[in-house]
Amino acid sequence: MMALLLDTRLLLRKVKDLRCFTPRRNRVKEKWAATRTKHPPTGLALQHFDATYNVQLGQLWPSVRAALLSERKYGALHNNFSQDAVMADLTAQGCSNFISDTDAEAQPCLEQESEVAAGDSMKKSDPDHQQLSPLQLSPNIKCFVFPRGDITRFKPARPDMCGLLGYYLMDAASVLPCLALDVQEGHNVLDLCAAPGGKTLALLQTQSIGFLCVNDASVSRTSRLRKVLHSYVPKQFLTDEKLRITSFDGTKWGEIERNTFDRVLVDVPCTTDRHSLMEDDNNIFSKSRTGERRRLPQLQLELLLAGIVAACPGGEILYSTCTLSQIQNLSVVEQAICLAQENHSIHLQVIDLRPLIRMFRKTFHFAPDLHLGEMVIPHLAANFGPIYMCKLRRLT
Ligand code: SAM
Repeated sequence: MMALLLDTRLLLRKVKDLRCFTPRRNRVKEKWAATRTKHPPTGLALQHFDATYNVQLGQLWPSVRAALLSERKYGALHNNFSQDAVMADLTAQGCSNFISDTDAEAQPCLEQESEVAAGDSMKKSDPDHQQLSPLQLSPNIKCFVFPRGDITRFKPARPDMCGLLGYYLMDAASVLPCLALDVQEGHNVLDLCAAPGGKTLALLQTQSIGFLCVNDASVSRTSRLRKVLHSYVPKQFLTDEKLRITSFDGTKWGEIERNTFDRVLVDVPCTTDRHSLMEDDNNIFSKSRTGERRRLPQLQLELLLAGIVAACPGGEILYSTCTLSQIQNLSVVEQAICLAQENHSIHLQVIDLRPLIRMFRKTFHFAPDLHLGEMVIPHLAANFGPIYMCKLRRLT
């Protein structure tokens, strides 16, 4: 013990001596008061989440909190357009495609529907009393993940002979809204808030889309989205006949196109809980962005309503976020259902996604007992999400 103490003291003295050899002009004196904010946005985010999610999630919050503050897990969305044998490579590394690795007990998979009119209960009804129809999952979307508890990182994807990358790294739970959207052959699809493009790429993997409209209000993020598409999709799929990229304010979409799309993805801006806890840069909890943060639920509602109006009667809309917040998730959907009926005479049906979550419970942890929509919650052994999703179908 004594020897260890002596060693430590010697080491400390050496470090001190080394400081003496550093020329004074090169020494950096840390100015804590000037450089460190008293309340970094990440700290404010944690305070906010502790206050709200403790109430919302109850006993689940401590474990979700621990996962949110730990390293997240990624999935590798396979790029069908790449010429390389990427799947064999990923499998050899110990990953598997979670979409084909479904829970056997959950088969055959059925989609359950519950009709919702404004004023009616929006609760999921008893599955035994529901009309059932087959849930289609595109066989072409493939997303590889390492097994539960394995936090190995993926290597960066390499370009093939044509310069296209073999996979796109994203939160594997982000693929679920694209699967749930259930794109069919020849569909006219709108991705209303699309940048940087992970979900657009997943939708394109279905190879079923007739026409795809990708939009994002941010011009800089739209140009990032363009770059992503050019790195993953051959030029012949990026023509004006197949794809349109725009940079409009999505809330105004109804003024441009109504009753048009078979499928609409409304993946709204939100408090991006994981990012807000880990990165001070570009953090929505920074003091200067308080107003923007408080306006989020209203913006989300306007975007979802615009998506509903843009869908054709019979068309389907998928609302998604990457926050645990009830105010940004269920409350937005509830209000949108009421306002669609009141202001646009549009009746909506809520599609029960429980069959989908039953299929993927080996890979993800889901929040129990949500009365509207489904949510992947972070867990240390499967550190994906949060991803909230709710699917609506236009009846009129
Ligand atoms: N779907 C994207 C993906 O999978 O890569 C992520 C979308 S991100 C959660 C939300 C996006 O909404 C941001 O890129 C943001 O620029 C965009 N956005 C914010 N306000 C918008 C608006 N009024 N209209 C359209 N897009 C908007």
